[in-house]
Amino acid sequence: IFQQIIDGDIPADKVYEDDFVLAFRDIQPQAPVHVLVIPKKPIVSVAHTEPDDEALMGKLLLAAAEVARREGLDSGGYRLVTNIGKQGGQSVDHLHVHVLGGRQMLWPPG
Ligand code: AMP
Repeated sequence: IFQQIIDGDIPADKVYEDDFVLAFRDIQPQAPVHVLVIPKKPIVSVAHTEPDDEALMGKLLLAAAEVARREGLDSGGYRLVTNIGKQGGQSVDHLHVHVLGGRQMLWPPG
């Protein structure tokens, strides 16, 4: 499904894009700001990264920070989450970092 968003086949509310990374709003937001940041390269999860992905993973995290900055989350703080596999709660098999903010986050996440 995220590949279709990258390809422009299904619409998304994009908030950031460069050659390597795309960010768009989650359709079921769990916070006032809930953006997903994904690599354009089809990687299933962090568990599926390879040494060659080192620079890309850096770009992904920097893009997440840039999204948070643009969304005005820097002063109040925010949370980055990437779910991995079944017990991690991953439901879409394309690596994504959740940027969540605009309310107090809780710990433990449950
Ligand atoms: P996860 O459970 O970590 O795999 O997160 C997947 C996220 O993708 C969920 O928060 C969904 O609400 C979100 N999602 C699924 N399909 C779409 C879509 N077409 N556009 C935006 N967000 C989506």
